[in-house]
Amino acid sequence: MWTRGYGSLWWSSRPLRACGIHACANWHNGEVPTERSADLFQRARRVSPGGVNSPVRAFKAVGGTPRFMTSGEGAWLTDVDGNRYVDFVGSWGPMLLGHAHPQVIAAVQEAVARGTSFGTPAEPEVALAEEIVERTSVESVRLVTSGTEATMSAIRLARGVTGRDRVVKFAGCYHGHVDPLLAEAGSGVVTLGIPGTPGVPAHVTADTIVLPYNDVDAVQAAFAEFGGQIACIITEAAPGNMGLVPPAPGFNAALARIASEHGALFISDEVMTGFRAARAGHWELDGQREGWAPDLVTFGKVMGGGFPSAAFGGRRDLMEYLAPAGPVYQAGTLAGNPVATTAGVTTLRLATPELYTDLLATSLRVRELVGEALVGAGVPHVIQAAGTMFSVMWGVTDPVTDFAGAQRQDTAAFAAFFSSMLDQGVYLPPSAFETWFVSAAHDDAALTTLSEALPAAARAAARALDDRP
Ligand SMILES: *Cc1c(COP(=O)(O)O)cnc(C)c1O
Repeated sequence: MWTRGYGSLWWSSRPLRACGIHACANWHNGEVPTERSADLFQRARRVSPGGVNSPVRAFKAVGGTPRFMTSGEGAWLTDVDGNRYVDFVGSWGPMLLGHAHPQVIAAVQEAVARGTSFGTPAEPEVALAEEIVERTSVESVRLVTSGTEATMSAIRLARGVTGRDRVVKFAGCYHGHVDPLLAEAGSGVVTLGIPGTPGVPAHVTADTIVLPYNDVDAVQAAFAEFGGQIACIITEAAPGNMGLVPPAPGFNAALARIASEHGALFISDEVMTGFRAARAGHWELDGQREGWAPDLVTFGKVMGGGFPSAAFGGRRDLMEYLAPAGPVYQAGTLAGNPVATTAGVTTLRLATPELYTDLLATSLRVRELVGEALVGAGVPHVIQAAGTMFSVMWGVTDPVTDFAGAQRQDTAAFAAFFSSMLDQGVYLPPSAFETWFVSAAHDDAALTTLSEALPAAARAAARALDDRP
């Protein structure tokens, strides 16, 4: 079964599971020790809202105790109770090379020893900006500390450049917790069923026009009505925060064209897809081939190499509107931090074209294994992908093209699947509305653990579907 399409060399047999004996013994008894995680979660809830520092880390959508991790190595995470997991979260995207890559760790240790922050320009931030400019469509780039800050700043810049206020976004796209962009957002907002959020005044979202994804007619209609007032269209280059919903062929190109026809800017949010979907980001899969570029692009996740680091960039003439070159203000005490940018540039330099070729092969193999198990157990599903990224849409039979479609998923089937996988040492994003992240460190040992866990988890999902009223 494992040789199909890949050759037996790649799948050389590895009879032993690469996991701690302690943890394996417990899995065989169907019981995974979680006392220390449970204790920590109790402590955490006393001093932090919900016990977590980002909502999606809680297991609210899937039940159970969030696992407190103590270390990561390659494709594996180890929690405080000594359980080991094959990790398909990858810190929600950044860990392209896997955890604790020796060369990244060495570069970071060397950087830390020289001092952690100077508040002056430094060489690593120039090197990182050069690496981003070399790979992508952007000519000039400003470093920030989170993806949220990147999209927030890109929108401010678009408004500053155009002198217009309205912003077009798509339902199910998540651009960080930027006030005007939380309208009908994906990620934790949809996982937790929060319709927008309290705390964002109505006048702040009043200039946000939310349209259905993949619907060019809706975009045209919005521009026909408000064209002269729209500063920008912002979209995920390939939405990965409502599950993975790829853009229909030509969709991003149409957005770029319509924006340009109306004097608005096209902002492609590549915080998740950048240096992940492909070497140049998702743009490599459409814009670069088709000969168009977004006006502004946001990056984050992979480019930080596991540190808080993000960026926005674009055409030089637009970026020159930013202070100190121009009038639009934007700043950051820790922006371009020398340790974070060292981690980022080291990660990107290790992310060679060959690495992306291998990553895509691994991603395809994971999809194939998951698909076979779900078909075997009779679980209706669609696996959707953009480059190396993919997610499973649960309980649906047709490809999902927008947020409404993604919300038709059977989240109970996913929750059952998730819990079974977790008990068997596979750590998935704890939501049906998230993308699975494969790393370059997912080797045959990791995929063996995955494939051994899949049949029981698929049966659990099937039972959850059968139990429906
Ligand atoms: C993760 C993400 C963000 C927000 O980045 P943070 O670093 O979490 O603030 C923005 N846009 C997209 C597409 C993302 O996936």
